[in-house]
Amino acid sequence: MTRPARVIIDLPALRHNFNRVRQIAPRSRIIAVVKADAYGHGLLRTARTLAAADAFGVACLEEAAQLREADITNPILLLEGPYSASELPQITAWDLQIVVHDDSQIAMLEHARPPQPFKVWLKIDSGMHRLGFPPAETRRVWQKLMSLSSVAPGIRLMTHLATANEPDNPMTERQLQVFKSAGEGIEAERSSANSAGILLWPESHLDWVRPGLMMYGISPVEGKSSRELGLEPVMSLQSSLIAVKSLRRGDVVGYGASWFCPEDMRIGVVAAGYGDGFPRHSSSGCPILVKDIRTRITGHASMDMLCVDLRNIPDVKVGDPVELWGAQLPIEEVASHAGTIPYELMCGINKRLRCEEHGQSENPL
Ligand SMILES: *Cc1c(COP(=O)(O)O)cnc(C)c1O
Repeated sequence: MTRPARVIIDLPALRHNFNRVRQIAPRSRIIAVVKADAYGHGLLRTARTLAAADAFGVACLEEAAQLREADITNPILLLEGPYSASELPQITAWDLQIVVHDDSQIAMLEHARPPQPFKVWLKIDSGMHRLGFPPAETRRVWQKLMSLSSVAPGIRLMTHLATANEPDNPMTERQLQVFKSAGEGIEAERSSANSAGILLWPESHLDWVRPGLMMYGISPVEGKSSRELGLEPVMSLQSSLIAVKSLRRGDVVGYGASWFCPEDMRIGVVAAGYGDGFPRHSSSGCPILVKDIRTRITGHASMDMLCVDLRNIPDVKVGDPVELWGAQLPIEEVASHAGTIPYELMCGINKRLRCEEHGQSENPL
């Protein structure tokens, strides 16, 4: 028996959420976003489970290379495009699509003489002010790209939404309007929707949607649970109790001796900590499940362990199961308690954790 801390990835749930995207945006093609090791879910297992995706979105060449080396043939889009001209030969070799968001990338393309022209997505900054050309430059850049022999015909247009997770924020409609006007008269396929756009803004769906978070079963919308949105959590972080102790009122628990027992009580020690990616910051009071019963963490998580309040758990013993987040305890709740977002928790999962898959992927690893 090895350390009980582990991550469980529910592959049928992943497939269910992907089908949910299809259901919600039936006229759009899907770029399944699998950057950052598929938000901590495992790049290859995720891509194999989502073999039906019209394309995969990744953040860099290394992620794309992992997919191609595993014989994954779906189109792949580098969401931030090439970072330098030295990447271009590999982009050709792996047949990757690129985002062009800056003049420096146009300069790279001007000097390139690839055997096959690059498939390009032109990114417009419709108001988020992260990546993309100013809307007024759309036509200039479009024409420039069209004139390059290194760029394939069929250039597409994309933008990114800053506040799509806020149903009452007028910024999304403004961004969509800016994006629409910027591309007026340009014949091209378009993309703007991330998960929140897919779920809340049908007018953002356009030709291609780019779901990340929702495919992993997480709600991007505050106050709306993933269940309410018809999504199923894919990742759960589980472990078990490795010690149960009876303490006296006033006894302290953990580093810093910052937590005191308010009465005589039992405390459990769970094999999971910040060394696994569990947030140390404000872990005290965080909800956690022991034997499927909700309780809370006492004191700060340490590297490999954390302590839990066992007052309301009957017949508890070493070896009893613990869920830190997952199907029974939404990661959204844990993230909110820790002052962060589910994205950060999932991406922070440490590689040392054992990972188990539930359900078969279409092409098992
Ligand atoms: C990460 C990313 C997405 C996916 O966003 P979610 O909020 O996870 O759905 C979509 N588009 C781009 C350009 C991204 O970088």
